[in-house]
Amino acid sequence: MTFDAKGHALATASTRMTSMSMLRSVVVGISFAVGLTFGAGHVLAQSADDQTTNSSAESVPTETVTTDQANADVNDAAATTTNDAMTAKTPTGDAKSAVVFMYHRFGENDYPSTNITTEQFDAQIKELTNGNYTVLGVPEIVAALQGGGGLPDRTIGITIDDAYRSVYELAWPVFRKNNMPFTVFVSSEQIDAGYSNYMTWDMVREMVRDGATIGGHSQHHSHLPDLPIDEVKAELDHSAERFKEELGFVPEIFAYPYGEANDDVIKAVTDAGYKAAFGQQSGAMSDESDFMYLPRFALNEHYGAMERFSLAANSLPLRVSDVTPGDYTLTRNPPAFGFTLKEPAPNVSCYPSDGQATMSRLGDERIEIRMDGPVASGRWRINCTALGAQSRWQWFGMLYTVP
Ligand SMILES: [Zn+2]
Repeated sequence: MTFDAKGHALATASTRMTSMSMLRSVVVGISFAVGLTFGAGHVLAQSADDQTTNSSAESVPTETVTTDQANADVNDAAATTTNDAMTAKTPTGDAKSAVVFMYHRFGENDYPSTNITTEQFDAQIKELTNGNYTVLGVPEIVAALQGGGGLPDRTIGITIDDAYRSVYELAWPVFRKNNMPFTVFVSSEQIDAGYSNYMTWDMVREMVRDGATIGGHSQHHSHLPDLPIDEVKAELDHSAERFKEELGFVPEIFAYPYGEANDDVIKAVTDAGYKAAFGQQSGAMSDESDFMYLPRFALNEHYGAMERFSLAANSLPLRVSDVTPGDYTLTRNPPAFGFTLKEPAPNVSCYPSDGQATMSRLGDERIEIRMDGPVASGRWRINCTALGAQSRWQWFGMLYTVP
């Protein structure tokens, strides 16, 4: 019998398995189901439905009118793009990672899965201003990590998806007061439709003049992997056109609606000129991240508690390679999830959002997770964590879109 290199490694590892280690695998597999492998496991687990955006935005009229006044504002905005808040800090440091948070709504308590209460927001701002963190603009973070530069330890990026009115009314004054840069990912149609719970283009322009970064988020906030690729490109083209008309520029950073992507979508976003793009999987980003599918920690009322916020804000990347499946939309269910550790992490645990799993460790480096059956359609997350130095969690998360 012959083995290829990988098969040989598998066979060697399994023959080395003692009854004790087999028992451990079974125990870990069981603990996945209840999420209790480590003490903080229940805190680390991530909601599978933290993005339940108003789907009515997908059926709004597409006709829009650009007024002369808007064009005048555009010119005004373009003339003042090098202003205060965003460009104040030049990142320096030795850290090769950062943590990016994702907000949606503020003080809109009817929407707990996408909202943060004002009390939670206040507590988070208090934490971020306690002297331990450096909040930098996402473009600066991306440029530093992409370009081989360093960042201050505990660098934080703030992103907000969907341009809800509460961002303008509640969050912006707080970020401005604390001199915190932030990025808002805007689906152009959600603004064009003129919904009262979304910002207007005037409000977006006002924030841009004050230093806010705007990112792309498609035209209709569509589930992009579900669309024919021509429609994905049309979404990107149309929203770019609208940004140009209303703001005078096309954003350079993108966030996939619902965090959903696949190889074709990522190629289209890359071809459209975006330099980096975010999903909605948890984890710290690093210089080795996939810059077209960057991780973020979602914040909402369920996952907004200070314990989790602080754990996430202090987290470090769990550096891995050879992640399978490689496409972020599953083509096979149950998925055969696996990765290779790039640094020693003897105490890694993984937590799937759905399904019962068994974890196998092949040698010191390779970890394979097998599910006992297909996972539910929608989005399937898996979070893998290890407690590292200084009691800081190393964190690697994935989000797969499940057809
Ligand atoms: Zn969104």
